[in-house]
Amino acid sequence: MKHLVIVTCGLLSFACAGPSRFARAGFEVHTFTHESTNAHLVVGEGGAVLFDTGYLRNVEQLEADLKAAGVDGGKLKAVVVSHGHADHAGAAATLHERWKVPVIVGEGDQGMYTSGKNEPLCPTGFIGNLRKSGDESATYTGATPDTLVADTLDLKPLTGLDATVTRVPGHTMGSLIITIGDVALVGDLFRGGIVGSGAETHFYQCDVEQNRRDVRRVLKDLAPKATLFFVGHFGPVAREAVEAHFRE
Ligand SMILES: [Zn+2]
Repeated sequence: MKHLVIVTCGLLSFACAGPSRFARAGFEVHTFTHESTNAHLVVGEGGAVLFDTGYLRNVEQLEADLKAAGVDGGKLKAVVVSHGHADHAGAAATLHERWKVPVIVGEGDQGMYTSGKNEPLCPTGFIGNLRKSGDESATYTGATPDTLVADTLDLKPLTGLDATVTRVPGHTMGSLIITIGDVALVGDLFRGGIVGSGAETHFYQCDVEQNRRDVRRVLKDLAPKATLFFVGHFGPVAREAVEAHFRE
């Protein structure tokens, strides 16, 4: 995968570019990418929430990204972990310690989050098969989550943002998405294209057909107003591209 990443970075500067920033009505989304994994910072007037952290080994870079975005320990109100895999949840416990922020995890993923160990992965294609052993064995410093989300959580009281966390089991039992305004942040529900701006089935899904139904449910019921989807890898992806890949 190392070679693939290098080739990808060489061909497509955006895949390895510095932080990107999307201004929306009343909030901004900053995306920090390290080792092809995205951490998304949603910033509003009253506070900010970080959705995913990347690997633990990149925590210093992430902290520098947060500070460069103007966010300090007072402004960052919560870390939401899209799911318990090491490339998403890896630095959450460390940020909890250093930045004194609560960590929010979906019910069903507390086992991974507490142990810092991934559950078995189900590859959906060539890249997943190639990466499975390395991805599966990645670990991180585990901890007890501050909040477990069984269904939904309103982020307004904690962060000041008109954002909702919703649990969408599939990629893992405790996978979470965030919806805010015309944006949805969806973790590994699907991924962006390595080349181009399309939506793709993620490298790991144990039930691909159920995943397709889940994506359609998100489009129709959970994020009907979302025009832009921020994903865990590559992206972001426009609504039309998601509809095109996951149509019935
Ligand atoms: Zn994952």
